[in-house]
Amino acid sequence: MPFVITEACISEKAADCLDVCPVDCIVQGEDQYFINPDICIDCGACEAVCPVEAIYYEEDLPSQYLKYLHKATEFFGKQ
Ligand code: SF4
Repeated sequence: MPFVITEACISEKAADCLDVCPVDCIVQGEDQYFINPDICIDCGACEAVCPVEAIYYEEDLPSQYLKYLHKATEFFGKQ
């Protein structure tokens, strides 16, 4: 799991990240967007444009947002 979308996306869902992702790996979930870790190439473009700073590189993910890493894993596991 390279980049992870966290809590701030839930109320915002601005979708700026979708426009810049070169590999179209960001998909809409029920309450937030998710990054498909199998397709993401770690370019960081999404992190730079997110207006609510919801996106973190996995290794920089604050511990209180770990649940969003698990949430994304679960989301793609079900697809
Ligand atoms: Fe897409 Fe790049 Fe963000 Fe990965 S880091 S989700 S490839 S924009």
